[in-house]
Amino acid sequence: MRVGVVKEIKPAERRVGLDPSGAKALAGEGHRILVETGAGAGAGHRDADYEAAGAVVAAADRVWAESELLVKVKEPVAEEYPYLHAGQTLFTYLHLAADRPLTEALLRSGTTAIAYETVQDHTGLPLLAPMSEVAGRLAGQAAAMYLQAPFGGAGILMGGVPGVRPARVVVIGGGVVGTQAALMSLGLRAEVTVLDTSPSRIRQLEELFSGRVRVLMNDPHTLEAELADADAVIGAVLVPGAAAPKVIRREHLRLLKPHSLLVDVAIDQGGCFETSHPTTYDDPVFEVDGIQHYCVANMPGAVPWTSTKALINATLPYVQRLARLGTDEALRSDAALARGLNVADGRIAHPGVAAAFRDLP
Ligand code: NAD
Repeated sequence: MRVGVVKEIKPAERRVGLDPSGAKALAGEGHRILVETGAGAGAGHRDADYEAAGAVVAAADRVWAESELLVKVKEPVAEEYPYLHAGQTLFTYLHLAADRPLTEALLRSGTTAIAYETVQDHTGLPLLAPMSEVAGRLAGQAAAMYLQAPFGGAGILMGGVPGVRPARVVVIGGGVVGTQAALMSLGLRAEVTVLDTSPSRIRQLEELFSGRVRVLMNDPHTLEAELADADAVIGAVLVPGAAAPKVIRREHLRLLKPHSLLVDVAIDQGGCFETSHPTTYDDPVFEVDGIQHYCVANMPGAVPWTSTKALINATLPYVQRLARLGTDEALRSDAALARGLNVADGRIAHPGVAAAFRDLP
């Protein structure tokens, strides 16, 4: 099969859908790999590395036109809509329920569109989890950085020093993001508490951390007591399919110590703190009532090399399957992948997207 990879042109996106080692694996299986000039540059991969892996480096219009399977990272932006065409399968993050123009463009084009974020197996969402892992670990690092006085923080060293207490980090939501945020904070020697509302998840976390992290039920009384003690709070809650619940309201801010830090990782779902609004790496923090807020909506964008590798580790087996079997047979024989199908033959194929656009076919 002809498998294509284009350069991401969404602002500040440096990841790439396939790295040279992924290209080599596919080329070794007999597929023809087309890579747009400079596609991997943002993630540290040179055109020559792709060529050495057996890929052909070409201009964007040729990659779009000739690929039967096009592997990307982010959803196509408006400048890319004219490239969409029938006979091609697009495999990428799409988030269509929040994007009517793209949904309409995909329907018009006849493209088969499979969304990473709706591929679902027995473990959950395997193509979303790696980015949550990256964001969770970055959240621990962000806490360490923005607790420092030059960055607006209270001037507390995450791990303390012998004789001086470390920072107290409270993680709200102990899923993929929260677990990695707790691990990273623990690795930096902070004192960590995780709050969750799911009894079964709390049990799992208790086993995982075996006493090194306090794991507590997030009830209103516990939350208020933990906030009063915290130096940094990392928000990582998710209620699938819904906007993030506001676990910290404005009136809670007066419970926190001055210059404490809130890191709202759930900002991409609307934020789990009432006073949050999305920020970017150009201007990541702002202050409300004396409390620092860090609310970067695309945290993995800061580490494109790691994020690219983590994403491809998860996507490559599906890319290989699509390339080996062809789209129809791959979807027929793999229920997890089939859940990723969002648009095919000019019709919406995913119930969540269909519910968002009842007027579209
Ligand atoms: P997840 O489903 O693995 O975990 C969510 C956890 O929140 C679950 O354990 C759940 O029990 C818990 N929870 C739900 N309501 C709660 C409440 N009121 N109080 C305490 N815990 C509660 O989800 P995840 O993959 O860890 O993602 C968490 C959030 O991070 C999502 O909103 C996701 O979109 C976001 N995210 C953001 C970025 C970014 O760059 N900002 C990157 C990746 C993920």
